[in-house]
Amino acid sequence: MSDHSSPDVVVLGAGLAGLGVAYRAARLGARVVVVDRDRVGAGASTVAAGMLAPVAEADAGERDLLALGLQSAARWPGFARELQEQSGVDPGYRELGTLVVARDRDGAEALVREAQLREALGAPVQRLLPSAARRLEPALAPSIRGALLAPDDHAVDPRAALEALATAARACGVVVRERTTATGVAVHDGRVAGLDLQDGTRLAAESVVLAAGAWSGSLRDALPAEVRVPVRPVKGQLLRLRGRVGAAAAQQVPVLERVVRFDAGYLVPREDGTVVLGATMEEQGFDTQVTALGLHELLRDVHEVVPGVLELAVEQALAGLRPGTPDNAPLLGPHPALPGLHLATGHHRNGVLLAPITADLVAAGLTGTGAPIAPAFAPERFSTAGLAA
Ligand SMILES: Cc1cc2nc3c(=O)[nH]c(=O)nc-3n(C[C@H](O)[C@H](O)[C@H](O)COP(=O)(O)OP(=O)(O)OC[C@H]3O[C@@H](n4cnc5c(N)ncnc54)[C@H](O)[C@@H]3O)c2cc1C
Repeated sequence: MSDHSSPDVVVLGAGLAGLGVAYRAARLGARVVVVDRDRVGAGASTVAAGMLAPVAEADAGERDLLALGLQSAARWPGFARELQEQSGVDPGYRELGTLVVARDRDGAEALVREAQLREALGAPVQRLLPSAARRLEPALAPSIRGALLAPDDHAVDPRAALEALATAARACGVVVRERTTATGVAVHDGRVAGLDLQDGTRLAAESVVLAAGAWSGSLRDALPAEVRVPVRPVKGQLLRLRGRVGAAAAQQVPVLERVVRFDAGYLVPREDGTVVLGATMEEQGFDTQVTALGLHELLRDVHEVVPGVLELAVEQALAGLRPGTPDNAPLLGPHPALPGLHLATGHHRNGVLLAPITADLVAAGLTGTGAPIAPAFAPERFSTAGLAA
């Protein structure tokens, strides 16, 4: 058995980012310890809706992110298979496809522009008439004005994926220390010496991976100035709904077969019969209360897209914090200003989608087996030196 009293790598944060890197690094032969001040999945990773939607999320100014998202989406089927084999837990990866729906004329015109943008970016979409969209998803409102099908945008159940990942990581020798708070990265002779913990002890290691999600930027005082990262919390609220509606109820079929997105939100059907309705985007610091305003925002327009949703039972209302960066792109790989410090954070709206590629890229950097990571995701791009370069 590996000796984890002196691990090679300490990972700060047991969300999808941290556990993914830990798992992959262990598979590459590293001795890895993960610490989390709470428990596995206490952060955004268990709140997330689980859309794997590089095409639906594509933005004209974010071509590098689209490329990274497409690469990661392509890795999900193999990643899910591997996790299931290693853990015996089904990570809940489903090839559903995504319908983007317009609920009025302005929305339909916007959808034409969205389709053109994706075609120009080489991202596959099909334009559909409302009637064709309703044939695919009979629960859609008769009043919808247009739709786009992103056939390769799928979904995963993040809770199941996290359970599979934690089990697989442990099976590969990763030690996960829950209820262990990190207070700072220890530095000696200009390089990482380990991770300092709240109980006053130090976990000595050659490499530390910062994967603390939305809290990655709040460790500011505990990191040397040149490696601090501008990661901020972006609050998201969502609802988990359960039940069957209308004709679907009689036939015992799910409300929706695909992910449905519209201008004010999205609906993600799960294998277990629940439907996730999300999500708000709020700048509220570290507040994770579910609010009446948040629920109002979620429920206000959804009946114009899938009216039956309002008949479903509310199972749970949740709020989580996305790790946002100034350019919405993650921070990945070794930090050149502090040897031994690696980053796997800042995934914002795409941390579930980007989990497999984050694991591969960051673990390859840790074990010295990888190619350089694109400058668009360089950890130093916001540092004073990085900005001046
Ligand atoms: C409402 C909502 C919907 C979303 N939907 C999607 C989606 O459909 N698709 C998608 O791809 N992404 C989605 N996301 C984004 C996704 O959830 C995040 O990008 C991703 O979960 C971030 O993972 P992470 O591991 O970096 O952070 P987290 O999962 O937040 O994990 C960070 C961990 O670090 C620990 N930690 C923090 N500070 C310390 C410390 N000092 N010491 C020890 N441990 C510490 C925390 O306890 C936590 O467990 C959504 C997010 C939200 C909020």
